[in-house]
Amino acid sequence: MTMLDLGQETERLLKWLGEFGKDSDGGVSRFLYTPEWVEAQRALELLMKDEGFTVQYDDVGNLYGRLEGTTYKDETILTGSHVDTVKNGGLYDGQYGIIAGIVAMKYLKEKYGQPLRNIEVVSMAEEEGSRFPYVFWGVKNIFGIAKREDVEDITDAKDIPFVEAMRNAGFNFRKEDSKIRNDIKAFIEAHVEQGGVLEIEKKSVGVVANIVGQRRFNIEVKGEANHAGTTPMGYRKDAVYVSSLIVNSIMDMAKKYSDPLVATVGKIEVKPNIVNVVPGNALFTLDVRHTHKDILVKFTKEVTDKMKEIASETGVEIKVDMWMDADPVPMDPVLVQAVKEQCDKNGLNYKMMHSGAGHDSQIMAQFVPTAMLFVPSHKGISHSPLEYTEPRDLGEGVKALIGAIYELAYK
Ligand SMILES: [Zn+2]
Repeated sequence: MTMLDLGQETERLLKWLGEFGKDSDGGVSRFLYTPEWVEAQRALELLMKDEGFTVQYDDVGNLYGRLEGTTYKDETILTGSHVDTVKNGGLYDGQYGIIAGIVAMKYLKEKYGQPLRNIEVVSMAEEEGSRFPYVFWGVKNIFGIAKREDVEDITDAKDIPFVEAMRNAGFNFRKEDSKIRNDIKAFIEAHVEQGGVLEIEKKSVGVVANIVGQRRFNIEVKGEANHAGTTPMGYRKDAVYVSSLIVNSIMDMAKKYSDPLVATVGKIEVKPNIVNVVPGNALFTLDVRHTHKDILVKFTKEVTDKMKEIASETGVEIKVDMWMDADPVPMDPVLVQAVKEQCDKNGLNYKMMHSGAGHDSQIMAQFVPTAMLFVPSHKGISHSPLEYTEPRDLGEGVKALIGAIYELAYK
């Protein structure tokens, strides 16, 4: 199979899988434990069986397809990604990692026969948090770190309890005595980039060395609401004006730090939000990401100090609340090197990069050596029916995966 053949086969299967949960306008909405989700897992189960893989679900509904190893029977090389989508998502996010894994295993089986170590592809139950206020349900259950009490009282938008949805789909909580897997020697997740770097730099594959850490804040500026006509400029405590000064300095500081630091003020709420009233209150968010924790900490400390300084200079009150603090996650250096060598060996058009978004791999990496492979997202678009990746690039990603799995499972 050529790179293009691999890419076309991958695209065909992505379209096929995208039929489960297909929206009328062409997107895909496939939420955890819905009938569409169950159908997709069952369809993947049949596909895997047809390819001669041994198929198994775990307690919560992660689906595994396995090629048995001949020699090292307690060592497994794992690939795959999540089967759930966001509301009105595309054909690539999550799905690509599962289909790429299946296509790679099929290729390896046909070309080299049975591996020395087990190879498995996993279609993980959930990653996006689209239906219930909980993320990484699939991967967390692989390692027994999902807590029962965190989902016992949560419901979806239609007030259906998590537990009821899970049981209706035919699954249940992870049994206390279920074995934690210690056979996984490596995990490689193929995924779309969800950003525009690969396309801009005309690369087909990204070898991910790090997943960024993130800190998120709610910031409240409290000034004084007043009459827009009768309050002279010098007597105002204008929450929007002060917020604009703050946002301006955050962006200046972020630009000075430069890549890979990114800072975003994505949401602003103003009170009373009326044309002829000096705004008394402004609430905005800040999202900061970087691949190194020390820089993330340093930047957010400097920004916080600066915000307080501006507030005191302008005579307003400020509240800075950090409600999310996730450390960066490095991928396994040995595994990353192995993947990179395969890209060199196969003459792939790749670049080393970091991931600016969160993935199953960031949980996986806490337990097993983990690496990620990206393929381009056209115009950087993701979480949209407009997600697109050229078949050729899909094929290069699969080729990189094939090379890496061959190295790990057949030698
Ligand atoms: Zn994803």
